[in-house]
Amino acid sequence: MIAEVIIDSTAKQLNRTFDYNIPKEIEDYISIGSTVLVPFGKMKDLEEAYVVGIKESSPYELKSIARLKYNIDENQIRLAKWMSKKYFCNVSDCIKLMVAPGIKRKQEVKDKKINVVYLKKEKEEIEDEIQKGIIKSEKQKRILQFLFENEGATSSEIEMFTDCSKAILKTLEKNGYVEFIEKKVERNPLEQKNIEKAEKLKLTDEQQYAFDEIKKSIDENSYNEFLIHGVTGSGKTEIYLQLIEQTIKKDKIAIMLVPEISLTPQTIERFISRFGKEEIAVLHSKLSIGERYDEWNKIKQGKAKIIIGARSAIFAPTNNVGIIIIDEEHDSSYKSESSPRYNAKEIASILAKQGNFPVVLGSATPEINTYYKAQTGKIKLLELTKRANNSKLPEVEVVDLKQELANGNRSMLSVSLYKAIEENLKNKKQIILFLNRRGFSTFIMCRECGYTVKCKNCNISMTYHKLENKLKCHYCGYEEKVVTVCPNCKSTKIRYFGTGTQKLEAEINKIFPNAKTIRMDVDTVTKKNSHEEILNKFKNENIDILIGTQMVVKGHHFPNVTLVGVIAADGSLNIDDYRANERTFQILTQVAGRAGRESSDGKVIIQTYNPDNFSIELSKKQDYSEFYKIELLLRKQLKYPPFCDIIVIGFSGKNEADIKKISSYMYNYLNQNMDKQRYSVFNPVPSPIDKIQNKIRWRMIIKGKMTVGAYETINKALKEVYKLNKKNVAVYADVNPNNMI
Ligand code: ADP
Ligand code: ZN
Ligand code: ZN
Repeated sequence: MIAEVIIDSTAKQLNRTFDYNIPKEIEDYISIGSTVLVPFGKMKDLEEAYVVGIKESSPYELKSIARLKYNIDENQIRLAKWMSKKYFCNVSDCIKLMVAPGIKRKQEVKDKKINVVYLKKEKEEIEDEIQKGIIKSEKQKRILQFLFENEGATSSEIEMFTDCSKAILKTLEKNGYVEFIEKKVERNPLEQKNIEKAEKLKLTDEQQYAFDEIKKSIDENSYNEFLIHGVTGSGKTEIYLQLIEQTIKKDKIAIMLVPEISLTPQTIERFISRFGKEEIAVLHSKLSIGERYDEWNKIKQGKAKIIIGARSAIFAPTNNVGIIIIDEEHDSSYKSESSPRYNAKEIASILAKQGNFPVVLGSATPEINTYYKAQTGKIKLLELTKRANNSKLPEVEVVDLKQELANGNRSMLSVSLYKAIEENLKNKKQIILFLNRRGFSTFIMCRECGYTVKCKNCNISMTYHKLENKLKCHYCGYEEKVVTVCPNCKSTKIRYFGTGTQKLEAEINKIFPNAKTIRMDVDTVTKKNSHEEILNKFKNENIDILIGTQMVVKGHHFPNVTLVGVIAADGSLNIDDYRANERTFQILTQVAGRAGRESSDGKVIIQTYNPDNFSIELSKKQDYSEFYKIELLLRKQLKYPPFCDIIVIGFSGKNEADIKKISSYMYNYLNQNMDKQRYSVFNPVPSPIDKIQNKIRWRMIIKGKMTVGAYETINKALKEVYKLNKKNVAVYADVNPNNMI
């Protein structure tokens, strides 16, 4: 028998099958979906490969498969092939998401300190050194490559997995490539014994209706998609829990996806208290490879009935799924921003259609695209209009910063927010201050009237480019001179807005010298200092004020927080993204949900230069449906999703001339081959962040509704470009990415 295999490689020319003999002695064990080791080309080591077809004969003289590693099933291979086309990546990249990670874990002692290993240089830098031959040792390379994907592994894990001795790790440490960090073995939340069993609640009428609708689909084994739209605290989770109970009763498995950032012990405990820990498996990216292996096996052996995890848990190794629930479905973490650039919601639909079961999406602020599908009947809409435990939503006040300025207040705090902070400090209550920044670029705004310069063609905020001292549109490339006088009100109070949590903390420390503060942003959240550790500190160590970026708003429950202040809501309003309003509405609504979860005296103060902007006004009222109506109208006028797709083709490399050459080749190819009636192909331009780690970045945008044909054309174009350029310029394509950077 002959096996058709795909070599595990990201090289585009290897994205095809190769034939190998299957040795007699392993013939019975090999099937489509097996992972095998094969000799390949001139490589010294055996290469990992995946069997994607079996046939009787081959016209070629063949080498033989050397060893069998493990199996996945035929459905998964089919899914991987589909993903390869849809997400413009190699089949092997997709299979990798589905195969067992890591190795068997040694029993770790709780609370003991262990050494884990982190890279000390950036991945790109190391790859570069490998390419240039600065790092020669094969074993060193193997360890570094292993760490690219498994940072935080223990040294024994690394030794076993890469088949290298500790001495080599030590050499890498000495040469400044890796570092050892002491870490406490974290208590596995599933091992805690004192979680009390919680009985299910009697559903409210609204909950019951939603539950019954979805239950029909479970009972009938039929595919359906549902959107539960309900304000925070309306009892969505209680519905999920009861649906999972139904699913388990039918001997099926439930997959529950939550955003990476809210996958905390708190979330998991809620499931344990209902179902006990035995039947739950947890999958997310922070697990060590040993832990991942354990959870993976628990699922594979059918011991887990409920799988809770972040995005990648959608690939959990089971073919007995009975429901997939995606909580906070608007969260951007469900879409991968690195290859394979898949969207877990799309994968969920595919799996549910194949397996005949329901998909349940839930959110207080659904993605516009999802709600549109619900409105047009592709998804069944289930609304929860009331809070389940009758608690009130907090009071929201919007402060006009233009007015503050007019009154002579130049500080970052309005009078109203200043007074509220003072009052809360006096009462020993906690405060969250939130700087709404999401984009990475600098924009220009008039402090007198709130005016920002937007692109004539795209209605997207123009971004300031310091080097050329110009404003640019990151969608169509349109440029303008920097303004020094506001075209709207003729004021000269023009300001550049950039990052600023550090500045905010310094200012707060000056104004309130006795208040204890803690900061959470990309600088303070590091490998060693996780987002959860900062939040725990805030909770347990008498800290008065938490200052942070949007990281602070997700999924947490702080009973003692009674004031949330949004320093400048405009940050996300002026990102160079067509979803600026949507993101603003989502984030402000989520923020409002943070205050006064238990007591009724929670207060939210939103400071803004644009108090009349509809996404700010309507988030104050928590009026999603009105927000949706206005936003949809805008999207329709300007032709943005859901009325079309935005396709980004990205280019990066060391040499700008190469990038120009490759991107203009791509532009010409697509311009010639895509239907001009249906697609607008824009010129390649430098990306908003035009340089990362010495790599120059460009991109081009295509607007239009994606079709099978369009996917084909873009896949072909990528192949052509790859032939032309091999590795000089990295090229990728992504449909509706989260970030337009
Ligand atoms: P969501 O997931 O929509 O934020 P939750 O399911 O967490 O809402 O419910 C919010 C609060 O209301 C929780 O404290 C929960 O225990 C309570 N709750 C939910 N459903 C009910 C119910 N049917 N009866 C009483 N309390 C409920
Ligand atoms: Zn102005
Ligand atoms: Zn434009």
